[in-house]
Amino acid sequence: MDRQVIGILGGGQLGRMLIEAANRMNIQVRVLDPTEKSPAKQISNFTQHVNEPFTSSTAIRALAKECDVLTVEIEHVNCDELEAIEESGAVKVRPSAGTIRLIQDKYLQKEYLAERGLSLPEYIKCDTLEVARNAGRVFGYPFVLKCRLGAYDGRGNYVVKDESDVDAGFKSLGGDMLYAEKFVPFIKELAVMVARRPGGQVVSYPVVETVQRDNICELVYAPAQIDGQVREAAMKVAMDTVSCLPDGSTGIFGVEMFLHKDGHTVLVNEIAPRTHNSGHYTTEACSTSQFENHLRAVLDLPLGDTSLKVPAAAMINVLGGANGFSSVLDPCLASLNVPGATIHLYGKAEAKVGRKMGHITVVADSALQLRRRTDLIVGKLANASQ
Ligand code: ATP
Ligand code: MG
Ligand code: MG
Repeated sequence: MDRQVIGILGGGQLGRMLIEAANRMNIQVRVLDPTEKSPAKQISNFTQHVNEPFTSSTAIRALAKECDVLTVEIEHVNCDELEAIEESGAVKVRPSAGTIRLIQDKYLQKEYLAERGLSLPEYIKCDTLEVARNAGRVFGYPFVLKCRLGAYDGRGNYVVKDESDVDAGFKSLGGDMLYAEKFVPFIKELAVMVARRPGGQVVSYPVVETVQRDNICELVYAPAQIDGQVREAAMKVAMDTVSCLPDGSTGIFGVEMFLHKDGHTVLVNEIAPRTHNSGHYTTEACSTSQFENHLRAVLDLPLGDTSLKVPAAAMINVLGGANGFSSVLDPCLASLNVPGATIHLYGKAEAKVGRKMGHITVVADSALQLRRRTDLIVGKLANASQ
């Protein structure tokens, strides 16, 4: 499809699914990840992968030597090196180093979006215990303490229950480089994937509902069961968010949002500068998957149709549970009997509790049929982890 070779910083499940899409189109990919048999490398026949951390300057330079375009499957990468490569002009960096740098610091990301008029939960920078205590007085309880850097799957968040809990929260997050956020009483969490090509072509996927348990995404329903006005509002917020990013940001972006309990206010939670868990359903349910559209975007190829091919779809994450691999494999085996279900396993070597090991997509003719099929699988997952 294209002569350009893509280098991906990070070789986890998102890289693996990017490679699935790349392989089908005969696009060459190289991966930078410290694990030699990482999920992405397992399904790639190329030998020029780099087995080093994606934070290492020399490793990023080594990867860049093999590639025409660099992209990421994780935002916690070395942006100084990416910026140097970008400035040298030898290799394209998509999305840009500036965009990744902005998004990887969740506090700077908020400042940037707030300055551009996006609606966000109230927040303040929080570097001292005194400020954290004051946040409780200003925001009330509960409120959320969050790490600015390195956050994922809620690791880096602490819900402060009351005044006596502030010290514990502050200390457990390392007490530095934090911000505090007002707790949002939301009805639903929503998300939209948006892809953008260098020349400006933009496409967006449907508004979906995400369900988080213990801060980790558990389920995604597509399309979200919301009224038309809310759908339009969420779509506008997502498009405004991505279009205000610096450097004409290129690639795919996931925009996470809260639908406030007032029933109409949509607030931005955060952006992911990459493919996203809330877009996994697109592989089975949309004409072009998020993975393929990301590849197309970074290669500057025409973006594909993002519409749903089915009336309703869901995605269920398969996490490591109390019974190790049985917690993962038993529900996958059971879902072989569920019509419309497709299993994705990521090939991770260990099934640690709470680790994302795979996901199951379900498609259906109606929201009701979807719910029945999804509930069956969710029940199996719950039983397998007891
Ligand atoms: P991700 O894995 O999506 O990158 P993360 O570690 O960056 O997650 P957040 O997205 O900030 O964490 O928060 C994870 C989840 O915690 C949210 O999806 C939501 O369910 C809950 N949450 C976060 N902030 C708030 C808030 N201010 N009010 C209520 N719930 C919140
Ligand atoms: Mg995050
Ligand atoms: Mg999040």
